Amino acid sequence: MAANRKILSLPGDGIGPEVMRQVNRVVEWFDKKRIASFDVTEDLVGGAAFDKYGTPLAEETMRRAMESDAVLFGAVGGPKWDNLPFAQKPERGLLRLRKDMDLFANLRPALVFDPLIGASTLKPEVIEGLDILIIRELTGGTYFGEPRGITTLPDGTRRGVNTQVYTTPEIVRVGRVAFELARKRHNKVCSVEKANVMESGVLWREEMQKLHDTEYKDVELSHMYADNCAMQLVRNPKQFDVIVTDNLFGDLLSDCAAMLTGSLGMLPSASLGAADSSGRRKALYEPVHGSAPDIAGKDAANPLACLLSFAMMLRYSFDMKEEADLVQRAVKAALESGARTGDILQPGMARVSTTQMGDAVLKALEKLC
Ligand code: NAD
Repeated sequence: MAANRKILSLPGDGIGPEVMRQVNRVVEWFDKKRIASFDVTEDLVGGAAFDKYGTPLAEETMRRAMESDAVLFGAVGGPKWDNLPFAQKPERGLLRLRKDMDLFANLRPALVFDPLIGASTLKPEVIEGLDILIIRELTGGTYFGEPRGITTLPDGTRRGVNTQVYTTPEIVRVGRVAFELARKRHNKVCSVEKANVMESGVLWREEMQKLHDTEYKDVELSHMYADNCAMQLVRNPKQFDVIVTDNLFGDLLSDCAAMLTGSLGMLPSASLGAADSSGRRKALYEPVHGSAPDIAGKDAANPLACLLSFAMMLRYSFDMKEEADLVQRAVKAALESGARTGDILQPGMARVSTTQMGDAVLKALEKLC
């Protein structure tokens, strides 16, 4: 087992364990083929953890997460736990992981697989071959800034306040993630803010430019206002490689970019923390979708978002570009073979189960090797 590839697997609730099972099969395949081995430990999170430990994230699980090289997360939540007190809700487990691991950079790729081009609402020529990465600052900005709150004014009307605030270190650390990841891709970063109307945007732009000029001159940097970026994402998304932006704009722009690609069942994500002295970052990888209680237990979920999250783990935590590309190519080949779970079903295609989609990916891996 590779000691530097310690993965904590947290399948969670609903379809989480079903999609994670397909990742486990790919991990086993890598091991059997002697391509790579991983030290995988599995634990409970969310409702499953509440049922066993009375909390959505046990202290021991949190400790394991801190000690692992990467966490792979399925999904949490479901009607069974909807009425629990706020602190015990399944989602608190995920939020605690993000907070305690200080995961400040959220990565959302928008990757279009040719066989699914028809699933997008945009014209095929606009999205064919699309591969962009949105990096959203996750722990600062408007969602956390002080002062915040709702107050009643002397005349009886009310006033709601949120504060957009960023400091140099917050901008620089997410900027570094963007520049470093761009170096592993097409070497282009577009930094997005509203420097035309917001001082925090002026600071964001200046700090990004300074960081670029001092440490990342080899990467191409451009700046764009957030409203223009929203337009450009639907007009000509292929102009982008890496987009880096704040928490609020990133929330909106990453959803917009995600929908260029079609289905929720295809969308992976990663959240990264600060690099330690060896350059390794704390990291959590998860599909964007939730626990899908409506289809849970039916072997009907699309496991590809979880498999693509695993591919992101290979790429960004373990520097295994070839293996990450291999998983992505196998996913593409499985789709080309006509395999479709219900969420991406197209006329004339075969509807397959979660397990059968896993079979199709494994078959493709065999062929590609
Ligand atoms: P959801 O993402 O679970 O499901 C939305 C719709 O998409 C459903 O119709 C579902 O069947 C479908 N879907 C989702 N993933 C799919 C997949 N892989 N394959 C096929 N179809 C898929 O969102 P929701 O219904 O709003 O939430 C359900 C539960 O999940 C709630 O308890 C919510 O709190 C939780 N949730 C958890 C996370 C997370 O763990 N990160 C994220 C979102 C929602």
